[in-house]
Amino acid sequence: MGDSYSYSYDEECDYLFKAVMIGDSGVGKSNLLSRFAKDEFRFDSKPTIGVEFAYRNIKIADKIIKAQIWDTAGQERFRAITSSYYRGALGALLVYDITRRATFGNIKKWLKELREYSNSHMIIVLVGNKSDLSKNREVQEEEGKELAETEGLYFMETSALENLNVQDAFLQMFSKILENTVQKNL
Ligand code: GDP
Repeated sequence: MGDSYSYSYDEECDYLFKAVMIGDSGVGKSNLLSRFAKDEFRFDSKPTIGVEFAYRNIKIADKIIKAQIWDTAGQERFRAITSSYYRGALGALLVYDITRRATFGNIKKWLKELREYSNSHMIIVLVGNKSDLSKNREVQEEEGKELAETEGLYFMETSALENLNVQDAFLQMFSKILENTVQKNL
């Protein structure tokens, strides 16, 4: 595993793009990922130790992209995320839970880590997940938007449970990565 993960060419796809899921434990990262990768909601999640990742082929602007998305598989509980997790990643979904303010408060800490380990062109989408739980909401949508604007991130609220905006969040990230890559190669 090395920097070749950023993108490469093979017979089945035009590009291979690596992206990472990041954010506090329990915010819904693995459910968002399984929604995107398999279109199913995992009701009980069993955090295992060790990185997990999923692949899905997507087509954007006539290009076939093999999207490879890494998930922390519970390691963020132990602050055991290492530089190899971020290496070669061109995008990140930075996730908090709209019903737990502390997870929003920690976004700056995750952002600092992301910026330390990854390249400055990384496409970061700030994701406020669990939008279906509006009666338990502790973070307003406006607050998420403002933070995203201040930090230069994209922003979206999602629900992995109701499959709201999940595809959009991933597709927005991968289409921006594609734009960046195509521009660099011009
Ligand atoms: P992770 O630790 O960040 O990977 O979080 P998980 O994907 O394991 O989800 C943590 C808990 O939140 C689980 O009990 C999920 O069922 C629940 N969950 C995840 N996404 C949503 C969502 O969009 N809405 C609701 N209501 N629950 C969710």
